[in-house]
Amino acid sequence: MNKLFVSVLALGLSFMVCKGQEKKEQLIDPKLTEVWEPKVPKVTPGKDHTAPSDAIVLFDGSNFDNWINGKGATAEWTLNADGSMTVKPKTGGIRTKQTFGSMQLHIEWRSPEKVEGKSGQGLGNSGVFIQGRYEIQVLDNNDNETYSNGQVGSVYKQSIPLAMASVPTGAWNSYDIIYHQPEFDEQGKVTKKATITVLHNGVLIQDHFEIQGPTVYRGEPSYKAHGKGPIFLQDHGDLVSYRNIWIRELN
Ligand code: MG
Repeated sequence: MNKLFVSVLALGLSFMVCKGQEKKEQLIDPKLTEVWEPKVPKVTPGKDHTAPSDAIVLFDGSNFDNWINGKGATAEWTLNADGSMTVKPKTGGIRTKQTFGSMQLHIEWRSPEKVEGKSGQGLGNSGVFIQGRYEIQVLDNNDNETYSNGQVGSVYKQSIPLAMASVPTGAWNSYDIIYHQPEFDEQGKVTKKATITVLHNGVLIQDHFEIQGPTVYRGEPSYKAHGKGPIFLQDHGDLVSYRNIWIRELN
């Protein structure tokens, strides 16, 4: 056979095979790839970032029922008429009575008016500690520089935020946090590190960061086995306010 004839024959055959496959794909019922179970639960979203219908409301401005101080007594922070609460310096941080694992958390915070003589880590410092251990920094970084891994939106001393998305000092910020708790084996060794994603005023600032261990001020973090933990808000001596806090458990 001459070479040209063989090439034409081969081309023709491969064309026929392709056409055949195409026909076969067309014959497969598209319904076979539809998934109908489980049914998706219905959730009514909140208005203006208030709690959706399936969330646990941790703070709606009316009381401290869900919060305790370090001694296990009722939180001593200031309850404001505008539906917010403010750190009362020297009374210590406050934590939720209830403990949580993996979660979606919404929380809003506001820096106090600029205080003369305060800067760096001393300006509007507080923090949202997930499971009582892992701090997302709250800080007033408007015209106020500090180390990048300790600025607003950092996983403190572990992860620099992707952006600085703060509103002006005195306006309300929001954090929307997606957190997956760490897993440990029977010896207490971490087998899966915690991960965290944070939106600051709708801007992605932490993208599925793998947390290296509980927040520490000095040295390297290292995991210790734990179960569920509270949301803890830090008293760093500044008059930071919080409002509209709700959580959806993810496990
Ligand atoms: Mg802090």
